[in-house]
Amino acid sequence: MASGEERVLHGVGASPGISIGRAMAVPRHPVQVAYRPLQDQTEAEAEVTRFEVALQATHDDLATARDDLSAALADYSYIIEAHLLILKDRMIKDRTAQIIRQQRLNAEWALSQAVSEAKVFFQKIKDDYIRSRFTDVEYVTDQVLRHLSGQEGSALSAIREKVIVVAHDLSPADTTQMDLDWVMGFVTDMGGPTSHTAIMAQAKALPAVLGLERVSLEVKSGDFLIVDGSAGVVVINPDDETLHYYRDKQEAYELYAQEILAQAHLPAETLDGHPVDVGANIELAEEVGMVLGYGAESIGLYRTEFFYISQKTTPSEDELFHNFRAVAQRLGGRPVNIRTLDIGGDKFASSVDLAPEINPALGLRAIRFCLKEKDLFLDQLRAVLRASAFGRVRVLFPLISGVEELVQAKELLERAKAQLVRRGQSFDPKLETGIMIEVPSAVAIADLLARHCDYFSIGTNDLIQYSLAIDRVNEHVAHLYQPLHPAVLRMIQMVVRAGHQAGIKVAMCGEMAGDQRAVPLLLGLGLDYLSLNALGIPRVKQMVRMTNRATWQKLAKRALSFATAAEVSAFMDQELRRHFPKVFSAEPAK
Ligand code: PEP
Ligand code: MG
Repeated sequence: MASGEERVLHGVGASPGISIGRAMAVPRHPVQVAYRPLQDQTEAEAEVTRFEVALQATHDDLATARDDLSAALADYSYIIEAHLLILKDRMIKDRTAQIIRQQRLNAEWALSQAVSEAKVFFQKIKDDYIRSRFTDVEYVTDQVLRHLSGQEGSALSAIREKVIVVAHDLSPADTTQMDLDWVMGFVTDMGGPTSHTAIMAQAKALPAVLGLERVSLEVKSGDFLIVDGSAGVVVINPDDETLHYYRDKQEAYELYAQEILAQAHLPAETLDGHPVDVGANIELAEEVGMVLGYGAESIGLYRTEFFYISQKTTPSEDELFHNFRAVAQRLGGRPVNIRTLDIGGDKFASSVDLAPEINPALGLRAIRFCLKEKDLFLDQLRAVLRASAFGRVRVLFPLISGVEELVQAKELLERAKAQLVRRGQSFDPKLETGIMIEVPSAVAIADLLARHCDYFSIGTNDLIQYSLAIDRVNEHVAHLYQPLHPAVLRMIQMVVRAGHQAGIKVAMCGEMAGDQRAVPLLLGLGLDYLSLNALGIPRVKQMVRMTNRATWQKLAKRALSFATAAEVSAFMDQELRRHFPKVFSAEPAK
């Protein structure tokens, strides 16, 4: 089978499963951008018009792509809607026109300059998901540039045999052009686990390995490939031994995947009969359809920062209310936990003026900021309360570090209720209040905090950062960011115990809750709810169903007896393989 030497590449496993077959390499034609000064204002105005025509043409292409989405992908139309919004964004549209007029430069050059400026803006955003959305800006503006320069067209619509698509990057509009029945998988230079290629691949259950950086330069059409989307591995020209190994793995995976998918919509209950609510973390209301498709039983965490990041002015109470109400209604009786604004620290806002701080992670962040900016906080609280009249809404306060903060936040909640009563607007008077446990001080006084709230949600992303003193976005210390650190495990145990003793439920909504390998341990530690990125839900639910909680309570005790994260991790590897051999098998020796 092999022609040429076997090569193994490692990227981001963005959609699980294994595909074996021939590559179709999508040629990459970067658009050439010429520099052309304009003579006078008349020429500049004509250039602005030419730019607007290209914007309109791109708009029409995208709208057609959205309307052509097959029923199976209809829930993903929000991705193209977001692209349509980028076309209207001031940073792109107005800024380009301004550069054309003020600097008297051609539209292609002006647009490229506006995109470079937008890039600087995006690079400052610490939130991975939102920062990664810059690829959308690049994609959309690339389409406008193609219209401006007349370099259009794509090979994708011509696919008529079973292939693995290898590309620099793929957009939703690209995927609508191809007949996905012929596509066996995606391999790209760009993209990560939350990119659109990943979302589309998962929706169509196509294995995908993304973020390989140079794969589009290394693979040519006709090369024989193995794509292992579960492990994030691509093998080019595999030898017979490798091929044999992956054929077996493919067969085992397909059986397992059929089982998972068939059960994604069933409730998750452990082998010994304990129900576990598996919910989703979302950042946009438009994600609700998708997360329900993946079997989410609730929205465990609705991060609401997007309103403050994506626009120049703070959102009004009504804007927030309409959004929250839409989410609550769409969930049809399933709960949504709306987190109040968690801005500051690593989360950058464009609509709110944050004073520069030497140490923003320890600064005026999240609930601290809201308790200072009371009017802005009251707007949020009234919006959440009003939405609670339309579904099962709960409010969740981030970064609580002491009882006073929680008491103050609840006093403001009461003030917001009184304001609504005066206005004659309805809300759920029993609206439940939860707090995120993300600061070590909150762990230490969890018993005291439990007297003032209805549930806990452990935010491991921050809890690990603050307890191990590891900046969560600093790649130089990333290796020290250890969810299985004995201190972290002990803290989780303390919070669960304190919550249960006070008779309240304990959820986890940090990334750790979505780690399939951690799930049995978390159940053993006694967590009641897990909330994670939608894509992991079927797998985590399956893991819950395969776990015997009583067994893992004992194993959790053992895990807690080790002195280092490495020892816990080795112990977990061994126990996961022993208890779930179908899911956790060893990788090939070579
Ligand atoms: C967390 O800190 O674990 C969490 C879920 O919140 P965020 O990642 O939004 O800070
Ligand atoms: Mg957090």
